[in-house]
Parts: sequence; structure tokens; C-alpha cells
Amino acid sequence: MHIADYQVTKAILERHGFSFKKSLGQNFLTDTNILQKIVETAEIDDQTNVIEIGPGIGALTEFIAEKAAEVMAFEIDDRLMPILADTLRDFDNVTVINEDVLKADLARHIKNFKNPNLPIKVVANLPYYITTPILMHLIDSKIPFTEFVVMMQKEVADRISASPNTKAYGSLTIAVQYHMTAKVAFIVPKTVFVPAPNVDSAILKMTRRAAPMVEVTDEAFFFKVAKIAFRHRRKTLWNNLQSAFGKTEEVRVQLTKSLENAEISPKIRGEALTIKEFAKLAEALLPLK
Ligand code: SAM
Repeated sequence: MHIADYQVTKAILERHGFSFKKSLGQNFLTDTNILQKIVETAEIDDQTNVIEIGPGIGALTEFIAEKAAEVMAFEIDDRLMPILADTLRDFDNVTVINEDVLKADLARHIKNFKNPNLPIKVVANLPYYITTPILMHLIDSKIPFTEFVVMMQKEVADRISASPNTKAYGSLTIAVQYHMTAKVAFIVPKTVFVPAPNVDSAILKMTRRAAPMVEVTDEAFFFKVAKIAFRHRRKTLWNNLQSAFGKTEEVRVQLTKSLENAEISPKIRGEALTIKEFAKLAEALLPLK
């Protein structure tokens, strides 16, 4: 029997008198096949440390702990602390940290792994209301996570793993794919959660690149240019750039020059540019920074 077996989950929730908080994105997994598939996708072994975000009552934690060297799980909801102490009592390789992951000093916490030199993966069924902030917090932490294998709403997974010239392609694609490759591993139906969320879910596997996908002089400016290019998706690149940098003659001349240097047509839309082309564009636009 596992925590995630429907009857077991139900009994745990009843025993502890737990009521779900929608505002915390609490949708617990009750399908052990899916959990098995998640840990297989994450390729966890006893030489892997894992960070989990939002363990809930421990459904996924249990599956990770069976395979990993150690698990550090961040859970914001105080009410889950006594429940996790109960459900995970048989594991000596799990530490639950009662903190908001967005405020947690991850770099400090990971020093507490018994073997801090092992590769660290993030494996989680994320709270959907903060999927993007969590991913950005993980990336910005500069911790060399080797992989994220995380569940999120399918629509966000599609955006992160998108290719140019699609509706889903945007600044989020670039923010993540700059550092990591991203691939949807499998889709998860609403029916395997209690309570069922309103949207379909997907497991997204993101693997850190040895080096960022493109070389840029100023990362912040590169991301800013990408955001500008997607600001009004129906407008041409030229119109979006002009709205952002100004409509003076001086800007017009510089923009024309920059686009020529980058060999990019002013008439295309931002969504047509590959990440490499965005990098070229950002370099060429540096005089306007
Ligand atoms: N891992 C469990 C499972 O798969 O059944 C629960 C996943 S549930 C989708 C998301 C979990 O994230 C909840 O337990 C929720 O309380 C927790 N959570 C929400 N916001 C959080 C935050 N800012 N920091 C840490 N945990 C958070």
C-alpha cells in the first residue's frame, strides 16, 4: 500500500481532519502508476539528492525517498507538518522544511544534504498558481540543479517547451530554454487528483545545458528584448521595438541599423525568431540599452 492509494489518502485526510486549501494549489495525486512514471522519468538513484516542492501528504515524497539518496521537501502549509511526520515516519532520508519555497534560501539549505556533492534534481507536483515564479526562483538561485521533472498545468508545459512560430512560444520559453532543454514527458488527466483541478496537467522534464544556449553580453537585456518582442503578439517586431525604445528619429536610425546588423527583417513578428536570433538581436540593440 502507498500513501497515494485512494483509500489510504482518504483515510489519512480523515484521520487528521484535513481540509484542502484551494488557494495553496492543493490537488493531491492518488495514482501510484503516475507516481512510478514520474520517478522513472526523473531517473533517480541512490546517488541523487532531490528537492521536492509541496509534498502535500507525501504521495510523491514516498516514491522519491524509496530511490533517492535524500529528499528535502519544502511545504508552506503548517497543517501538513504533523501529517507528513506520520506518513513518512519510516524514512530516514527525508527532511521536510516548513517554508514558502519562494522565500527559502535554497543555496543555504542544500548545504545540509548529508552528501552535498551529489547531483541535485527537482522533482515535484507543483502548486499551479505559482509555477512560473517557482521555476524562476530555482533558476535564479544559481544552484546547479541537473534536472527538473515537474508536474504543472499542461498549457504552461506547452509554453515552456514550445518552438518558434507557434502560439505557445513566448518569453517564458526563452527564459527557461536559455538554461535548460525542455520536453513534455507525458500528460496527466484531471481525474487522478483529489480534488480534481480544472485543467489538464503534464510532466515536463527540463535538463540543464552545459552552458546557456546562446552567448550574450548582457543577460538581463537579452531577456528584456525577448519580452519586448512578444509584448503585442500581433504587432511586427519593428512596432514592438519602436514602442519600447521610442519613436524619435535617432531611435529609428539605430533600430534600422541594428536589425540590418542582426540580419533580421523588421516586418516579422517576435514569435518567428529563434533563441539564437534573439541573442543576435539583443547584441545588435546594445547601443539602445
Ligand atoms: N506532492 C503532493 C502530491 O503530489 O499529491 C501535493 C502537490 S499539490 C499540487 C501542491 C503542494 O504545494 C501543496 O501541498 C501546497 O500546500 C504546497 N504549496 C503551495 N504553495 C507553496 C509554497 N509557496 N511553498 C511550498 N509549498 C507550497
